[in-house]
Amino acid sequence: MSVENREKWKNYEQLLLRCDVVDQRYPLPGFVVWLPWGVKIKQRVVQLARSVFEKADYLEVQLPLLIPLSIYEIQPDHYAGLEKYTYFIDSQHDDEPAVIRTTSETPFTSMFRNWIVERGLPLRFFQHVSVYRHEKETKLISLIRSREIEPFVESYTALASDEETEVQIATEVDIYKSILRRMSIPFVVSRRPKYDTFPEAQYSVTFDTILPAGHVSQVASVHHLGQSFGTGFDVRVGTGFVYQTSTGISGRSIGCMLLLQASQSALVLPPSIAPYKVVLIGQNRSHERLKCLLEQTKQNYLEDMSIRKIENVEFSDWYKKGIPLFVQADEKDNVKIISRISTGISTLAIADFAQILPKLLEKIQVDLEKRVWHVFLDAIVDIVDIGDAKMFSKDGTGIARVFLCQKERCLSVLRQNVEPRAAILGRAEDEPERIGACIVCHNKEGNIFYIGIPS
Ligand SMILES: [Zn+2]
Repeated sequence: MSVENREKWKNYEQLLLRCDVVDQRYPLPGFVVWLPWGVKIKQRVVQLARSVFEKADYLEVQLPLLIPLSIYEIQPDHYAGLEKYTYFIDSQHDDEPAVIRTTSETPFTSMFRNWIVERGLPLRFFQHVSVYRHEKETKLISLIRSREIEPFVESYTALASDEETEVQIATEVDIYKSILRRMSIPFVVSRRPKYDTFPEAQYSVTFDTILPAGHVSQVASVHHLGQSFGTGFDVRVGTGFVYQTSTGISGRSIGCMLLLQASQSALVLPPSIAPYKVVLIGQNRSHERLKCLLEQTKQNYLEDMSIRKIENVEFSDWYKKGIPLFVQADEKDNVKIISRISTGISTLAIADFAQILPKLLEKIQVDLEKRVWHVFLDAIVDIVDIGDAKMFSKDGTGIARVFLCQKERCLSVLRQNVEPRAAILGRAEDEPERIGACIVCHNKEGNIFYIGIPS
């Protein structure tokens, strides 16, 4: 881990406060106050998720915050898996006890019974809510690990067959690939080992990224719930029970996005997320003309008169807050430009500005993505020897890639050989065709598995 990355991680929460994103001084651990700039960024991310889900034919709904205990308890294994994170409400008003939602499989399934009759299958819904999980205090870090998880965009589907469910899972994996790419968050996709699957799911596909300190962080997940909830809640389709999927992405993805793009002292936002894409600074003869051109492009921009010269842009509050592009007209009908992905000032003729601006923003988007993926892929190491896997789990950072065959025994031997601080993230879903010699038994039919150090 570089000194720069270590510093970035150490200063992360201070950076969020200085850049008006969240304030950690609320007197309840794990609960932060979203500040004005943070709210704007959050709204952009939720809007991005909303547009991707709507494009895939999901309808937006909103279920209540409280789940009656009687509903929660219908699925005992699911309940047992989440109990230690759950906030319970003991009603003093003769109502039945309830829990604050940690996730919404149980209330959705309870409603599916009505909706299948009224609306027919398939059902595809998403919602933007907060969920609450009582995480250990020692692990709390703003947005990355909170007790109030906000925003939480989650989806739930009800389907008629296993085949349809597999197709839906593939769609949902693509949905999160699309969201994370637009947020410039690099990731590996893997199918979690059975022992680490979401409670009551048949399998879980998860997206993990690497934080600057070298830890991995799960940024999105997709669960094949099979018929388990349908059976528990007696939700029937024909002669069998309904199949379901659930997915979720949280405010953690916003924390990761900010951390991965930021410099030591300033945020850098991808143009697809930035609430304003361009800052127009200074004032001179051609200023109004440049402003008219910006209006024509319909890109969100703002004016900053506190800085007179583009050379001093680093002193602008908007630079600190991560706006991708700064422009200023000069006296010779040129536009001076500072982009957050290159150093120095470039110049173009004002007559060309409106035409070039969208391409410039697209280039920033692509280059930011390339930059983070380059760092990310550099932090993935290939390991072929079980001794090296042990070493990695003791001292390593980033992600280790190993080949492992299908045998339960080989997974269990690998597990015994890695330190408790490390986790076997699962079998790679993004490189299914690559096979090699299993790290344990040397059988040639091994698939790629990832190992990481969770934050
Ligand atoms: Zn093996």
